[in-house]
Amino acid sequence: MEMHWASRDRQHLEQAIWRHLTEPSGPGKPGSARRAGSGNAYAFDLWIAHLALVEQVLELAPIPWQELRAEELDGLLLLRAARERFRREYYPCAECGAPVKGKICPRCGAVS
Ligand SMILES: [Zn+2]
Repeated sequence: MEMHWASRDRQHLEQAIWRHLTEPSGPGKPGSARRAGSGNAYAFDLWIAHLALVEQVLELAPIPWQELRAEELDGLLLLRAARERFRREYYPCAECGAPVKGKICPRCGAVS
């Protein structure tokens, strides 16, 4: 199963999570998998979606962390660390909400 190895490739998962945060691809936009030009990115997208789901479920119904699979716990920690880094380095564009790291929005070109 594709997700299986995606969950264990920690280094690339970390990079994929970072792309997921900094290059949001909504339903109407081409996915990051296609941009990356490989089916591998798709497996990471699936795994990240799974981690996000687990995170939401945990907020509704907390379970002991011991009950999570090791790779889920690991993934959740990576996701959390990436979000914290993201909050330090980026801010949302006042015009369109896209993540911006400098002064010019990469999506709409607004200058802050
Ligand atoms: Zn913008």
